[in-house]
Amino acid sequence: MAEQFQLFFVQRFKGKVLFDVPMSQYTSMGVGGPAEVMAFPQDEADLKDLLAFATAKRFPVFILGGGTNLVVRDKGIRGVVVNMTEGFRDLSWREETDIVVGSGITLSRLLKRCVERGLSGLEFAEGIPGTVGGAVVMNAGAYGQEMSTIIEGVEVLDRKGKKSFIPKGDIEFGYRRATLPEGAIVTRAHLSFVKKPEDEIKETITGLRTRRKSSSKVGCPSAGSVFKNPEGTFAGKAIEEAGLKGHRIGGAMVSEVHANYIVNKGNATAMDVLSLMALIRDKVYSKSGVTLEPEIKVVGDD
Ligand SMILES: Cc1cc2nc3c(=O)[nH]c(=O)nc-3n(C[C@H](O)[C@H](O)[C@H](O)COP(=O)(O)OP(=O)(O)OC[C@H]3O[C@@H](n4cnc5c(N)ncnc54)[C@H](O)[C@@H]3O)c2cc1C
Repeated sequence: MAEQFQLFFVQRFKGKVLFDVPMSQYTSMGVGGPAEVMAFPQDEADLKDLLAFATAKRFPVFILGGGTNLVVRDKGIRGVVVNMTEGFRDLSWREETDIVVGSGITLSRLLKRCVERGLSGLEFAEGIPGTVGGAVVMNAGAYGQEMSTIIEGVEVLDRKGKKSFIPKGDIEFGYRRATLPEGAIVTRAHLSFVKKPEDEIKETITGLRTRRKSSSKVGCPSAGSVFKNPEGTFAGKAIEEAGLKGHRIGGAMVSEVHANYIVNKGNATAMDVLSLMALIRDKVYSKSGVTLEPEIKVVGDD
């Protein structure tokens, strides 16, 4: 496959391309085997060409943002990983409070721009890593607020490269999920904020940073919360009550600071992480009858 792609990349593609690149270097958890091809489209035309080529050749395509919500399996990802973080970084203000933002921009950069302009609505994202695209797809959120409150709509390409705008009303948002058409690639988000004094926004952010302190002290690579909070309780509490804080399989460990985080102690494999996830689910179910559902996405080949 790499040979066929090489010609395409030389002739048509403007962005960077890497072959056989370890996904552990592109995910915050730091595990995962190689991506056969990783391409960094520079703009929409690049992405369209890439999709058309991959579709024609029947190569699988995986879309990568910041890689902060992912566990990639040890055999890596077959086909093309489309890395959105080098293109799609445009940002344009429509009205004083409305913005169209490329999906490759990080949430932290966007939050900074909002603060500078005295725009409120994204403060909850303080401390959430990753890109705008990943945050849309995951409906990222914290402390009772989430992306869906500020989204007006998204620009997407389908796997054939056809562009469309999906208004908020056509997206079903849930807890850490946004239901978009199968295979949709978010290229831009249309977001709406409210005006507030800069000091007030900064004060809210400082408050949230303090609340987040425990999870920011985990001190090792992770993918954030591993499991969704079940109805009426917290996944971390259930894991702690099952006596699993500090429990380790290979290089993967249940964080001693935040029980719903699995941390990579330096040499973890995806298999270590997945085995630990399975053990946590079993033990929590036996102890409290609670079934934990993963929040993180597990991708790639076994
Ligand atoms: C320390 C830490 C703390 C965290 N805290 C929080 C928190 O408080 N709240 C929270 O919600 N999350 C949290 N997370 C998880 C994670 O940061 C969010 O889910 C984030 O929004 C993922 O964005 P990403 O760009 O890294 O997405 P990725 O991990 O790259 O991808 C996630 C999913 O989105 C898809 N995707 C990414 N970009 C696109 C695109 N442009 N178009 C279509 N599909 C796309 C991918 O295919 C994948 O299925 C935390 C993670 C860490 C490491």
